[in-house]
Amino acid sequence: CGIVGYIGKRDVAPLLLEGLQRLEYRGYDSAGIVVNSPKAAALKVVKAKGRVRELESRVPKRFAGTTGIAHTRWATHGAPSDLNSHPHLDADNKVAVVHNGIVDNASELRAKLEADGVVFLSETDTEVLVHLIARAQAETLEEKVREALKVVEGTYGIAVMHADFPDRIVVARNGSPVVLGIGEKEMFVASDIAALVAHTRQIVTLDDGEMATLKADDFRTYTTSGTTTTATPETVEWEA
Ligand code: GLU
Repeated sequence: CGIVGYIGKRDVAPLLLEGLQRLEYRGYDSAGIVVNSPKAAALKVVKAKGRVRELESRVPKRFAGTTGIAHTRWATHGAPSDLNSHPHLDADNKVAVVHNGIVDNASELRAKLEADGVVFLSETDTEVLVHLIARAQAETLEEKVREALKVVEGTYGIAVMHADFPDRIVVARNGSPVVLGIGEKEMFVASDIAALVAHTRQIVTLDDGEMATLKADDFRTYTTSGTTTTATPETVEWEA
């Protein structure tokens, strides 16, 4: 339902929780957040069924990180629950995905992955994306995501973090909105500009079939087949 992400220098958890609150008007049944761990090679995640306020009350006081992604979920596959809330992660807490939309061939992909020994932690369609990315053979995160999306049918706006690629967030869009917010040595992503305008008015709207890599001081856009696309930020007007 709602996505918000950030990479930069600021403490990310409060920023993302505030972004989620700005998306509350769209409705949702659960929420979650994942941040990089500056010390360990694993990601830290908190999720909760219910309001963003409930999530906020569960986020530890010390939840330091400067890169993160967060989600408000409107369940389509799997009941609203703590476990089915996004972000979804692999068993090593290396790969994290938030997803808006529906993976149409999720049960087929899940059956294949399970036959290969993958243990699923949730009932969502989204979780197949996590395991496909975690198991992709490609070397870069961009190519891993591309490799995964090749076998996925359906709609998605996704944001992906990977503990082995701590300098970036990779996002992709097909039928579910994704906008980038361009800041000064910091970058934002969201499903809706409402989550971004408090921080920047410089917006790039992704097209279907487009992906982007966000780094703290740089971004680039390209197609799901890897061709670079041009993205000129537009200045949006917004009455606060
Ligand atoms: N299909 C996904 C799920 O049920 C995402 C739903 C959404 O867009 O919030 O978890």
